[in-house]
Amino acid sequence: MSVAIALDGPAGAGKSTIAKRAAKALDFIYIDTGALYRTIGLAASRNRVKPQPSREVDELLSKITVDLTFNDMGEQVVLLDGEDVSGLIRTPEASMMASKISAVPSVRAYLLDLQRDMAKSHNVIMDGRDIGTVVLPDAKVKIFLTASPEARATRRYKELCEKGMDVKYEDILYDVIERDYNDTHRTTAPLKPAEGCITVDTTELDFEQSAEKVISVIKENL
Ligand code: C5P
Repeated sequence: MSVAIALDGPAGAGKSTIAKRAAKALDFIYIDTGALYRTIGLAASRNRVKPQPSREVDELLSKITVDLTFNDMGEQVVLLDGEDVSGLIRTPEASMMASKISAVPSVRAYLLDLQRDMAKSHNVIMDGRDIGTVVLPDAKVKIFLTASPEARATRRYKELCEKGMDVKYEDILYDVIERDYNDTHRTTAPLKPAEGCITVDTTELDFEQSAEKVISVIKENL
């Protein structure tokens, strides 16, 4: 039987980089569920559909296909109607669109089986907002990874600057706070620590220390 590790937490807590490292160390597959919400957000933007519960969103979901696959390096690739959109979904606009559209219950329902199916067939570390609470409540290890909004905004700011994007720290901090609010206040599957989860706060830790901490928590609890 496959083993699942749930890694939830707010935007910019370092979930994806840490999960990638942990997946390598443990020989698990890393699944970034945020990419799925971002892809639906992209589909909505392209079709000029507003990110709110509506018949238009439901019609869009019935028209599109979203698939997860992996490239030769074992990295996740997300396909929208067969097109690799893994790069296109990484802009601040796509982040905000994902945050809004992820509050739509039919969007969450649409992605649920896809996420669960991945965990049935592989040993996975899955990162998201509701993995331990909704998607995989029976995950072997559940971790809630968090850090202060300022620490998270600083990390994201550096990351985007390194990618050559022209962004302002104040805008990123505002986005982090707004996305936290959206994620924790939505009615369906709000972001909150799962029952029985272990909280890891990385405000005072650098990447290496955070990754080490998460890997040791996983090993102790597997
Ligand atoms: O993790 P990432 O920042 O890429 O996620 C983008 C958005 O998708 C988040 O702001 C969140 O609103 C939403 N999301 C979610 N549930 C998940 C993963 C992401 O609601 N499991």
